Amino acid sequence: MEYQSIINSIYKEVSLLENKGTIADYIPELQKINTDKFGIALIDNFQNRYSIGNATEQFSIQSISKVITTSIIFSKMGNDLWQRVGFEPSGNAFNSLVQLEYENGIPRNPFINAGALVIADLMVSHFENPKEYFLSFMKELSENENIEYNETVAQSEKENGYRNAALVNYIKSFHNIQNHPDDVLDFYFHQCSIEMSCLDLAKVFQVFSNNGIVPKTKFKFLTTSQCKRMNALMQMCGFYDQAGEFTFKVGLPGKSGVGGGVVAIYPNHYTVAVWSPKLNKKGNSYYGLETLERLTTITEASIF
Ligand code: GLU
Repeated sequence: MEYQSIINSIYKEVSLLENKGTIADYIPELQKINTDKFGIALIDNFQNRYSIGNATEQFSIQSISKVITTSIIFSKMGNDLWQRVGFEPSGNAFNSLVQLEYENGIPRNPFINAGALVIADLMVSHFENPKEYFLSFMKELSENENIEYNETVAQSEKENGYRNAALVNYIKSFHNIQNHPDDVLDFYFHQCSIEMSCLDLAKVFQVFSNNGIVPKTKFKFLTTSQCKRMNALMQMCGFYDQAGEFTFKVGLPGKSGVGGGVVAIYPNHYTVAVWSPKLNKKGNSYYGLETLERLTTITEASIF
């Protein structure tokens, strides 16, 4: 398929739309970004790369990192993981506390903050140096050595992370956090602060379009069943409280982050990443969603 000309024309069309989003403001450091940035990268299952705009510029991947930490822990623990975190959509905001009380500290899914913090706790338990492990894993999957944590963003989030601190302490009161809350938060803020480009992300997420196999090394990172489940989680829970609308309009599993990044997976065909920092009211990149809706319509991509 003529992916390059398709993304070129979508890029042009979406660039002309009034960008109705606003930038995430709860992490002061993220507000400094130039809101005109817009990039698209697509990699097909033959490893051909297509890109346009600011596709090689790195940005804060934020919640997109949750898919990878969850996959690492899932590959280690198998289905025992689901005793610590659920796999149901939440229908609430990403940082909501309300469901935890009547669900005894078992977060609904690993992509809301409560669940991601439980996964961060498991990363701290499983690895002697979880930050080092996670960074090197991201470098390996993206085939890019030039990926780093942004310490300023991690620090900015730590200074303003009252709600995440509340979540981790509250979950610990139900005995579903095993490590010290400070260690869990430190890892969590760092995983969110990692900076990658659309091309890096499209590369990393190929493992989910390729049946759990890392294309370059042929390493079977996830079993077929685990890969299916990660894609199912992204489909049900990848877009905060807009997962239904994303499924309805785009028809693919994916994950967004408040840095304005969005990744989507068309299993056995391609992965695509879009970056535009302005977010809609649900916290998803406004241009990102406009782009993906057009892309799946034109390429007739859908998992349904
Ligand atoms: N670091 C963010 C937080 O926990 C992640 C937000 C996101 O991308 O959803 O608040």
